[in-house]
Amino acid sequence: MSSTFPLKKFEALKTPFYYYDMELLERTLKKIKEESDRYNFHVHYAIKANFNSRLLELIKNYGFGIDCVSGYEIKRALEVGFDPAGIVFAGVGKSDWEIELGLDNDIACFNVESIPELEVINDLAKRRGKVATVAVRINPNVDANTHSYITTGLDENKFGVNRIDLEDFTDKISKMQNVSLEGLHFHIGSQITDLSSFKDLCVKVNEIQEWFISQKIYPKVINVGGGLGIDYENPDYNSIPQFEDYFKVFKKGLNIKGDQQVHFELGRSVVGQCGSLITRVLYVKKGVKTDFAIVDGGMTDLIRPALYQAYHKIENISSSSPEKKYDIVGPICESSDSFGKAQSLPETARGDFIAVRSAGAYGEVMVSPYNLREFPKAYYSDQL
Ligand SMILES: *Cc1c(COP(=O)(O)O)cnc(C)c1O
Repeated sequence: MSSTFPLKKFEALKTPFYYYDMELLERTLKKIKEESDRYNFHVHYAIKANFNSRLLELIKNYGFGIDCVSGYEIKRALEVGFDPAGIVFAGVGKSDWEIELGLDNDIACFNVESIPELEVINDLAKRRGKVATVAVRINPNVDANTHSYITTGLDENKFGVNRIDLEDFTDKISKMQNVSLEGLHFHIGSQITDLSSFKDLCVKVNEIQEWFISQKIYPKVINVGGGLGIDYENPDYNSIPQFEDYFKVFKKGLNIKGDQQVHFELGRSVVGQCGSLITRVLYVKKGVKTDFAIVDGGMTDLIRPALYQAYHKIENISSSSPEKKYDIVGPICESSDSFGKAQSLPETARGDFIAVRSAGAYGEVMVSPYNLREFPKAYYSDQL
């Protein structure tokens, strides 16, 4: 039984819902600030991990920038009051209106993922009489050793410009009037727990930077993206990721030139551990090998297990009986609607509260109305 959840208060709430531990988020943000300030690193929060306004308000208070991958994310960031001068915008398929929105609000940087996109940005900027600041997203061909659906830095991935096309890119950009190349951008994937992937990235970044310098291009900004993983197995023991070691890898590994800025785009590692999906047991049903605990939350509320076979720690926060094994499944009409197979839980009964832990990132933002389900509400530890 976990004592960190206000079980009494949960009784009055309709399940399933997201519950955010704001005190943990605050401690996480403090740690990121402290460790990044040490080296004068700049952090942009990757808003796609969780665009909940309450969380954004808190993140804003720490002075971080924002990394967006859509026009509506830019809108949300501006509404919450983030400074456009701290907004960067990535994505392989930016629509014209999204680029225009970025230009009209003078965002800090477009992270450009192809030559055709560069041409459109130049065009739209020209019509406005502006010069857009851009970084080229380079595919460094580094294996992030993570799930194939969240690997983004290999040659075969759709993201970024491959190294063989870089010369063409710099050639084209040197002839354009309305874009200015100020940075090199990288992002190799997500849920990376082995820091050696980031060491490999540093080696590639240094090499690529030397090539740019040989072309007489001196990048002001090196943006190494995000991807730092969290400990899904031990959310209480490792509630705050190893930011100290993470930033140190880049300080040691990157060949930083003069007053060059180093930027990061952290998503999951910022908000992952502060959120849980809280759901209640509807029925315990006999199974052939293991019994099923059928809960009222499903893949429409948290799709990660169904989408990328992701593991989340599941806790019965109502019971402290001896443990048994259960398949914890939702009510959606899909066999993939399962939060975990053969998981040990205290003996479970109808009405028990189940916490699906580490659901703060890529959880609430991926809810769907499939089966005409209602979107889960969010509650906050400081407001219950
Ligand atoms: C998703 C994404 C991030 C954040 O990734 P995390 O693994 O959540 O840290 C950073 N940069 C870009 C370009 C992204 O697409």
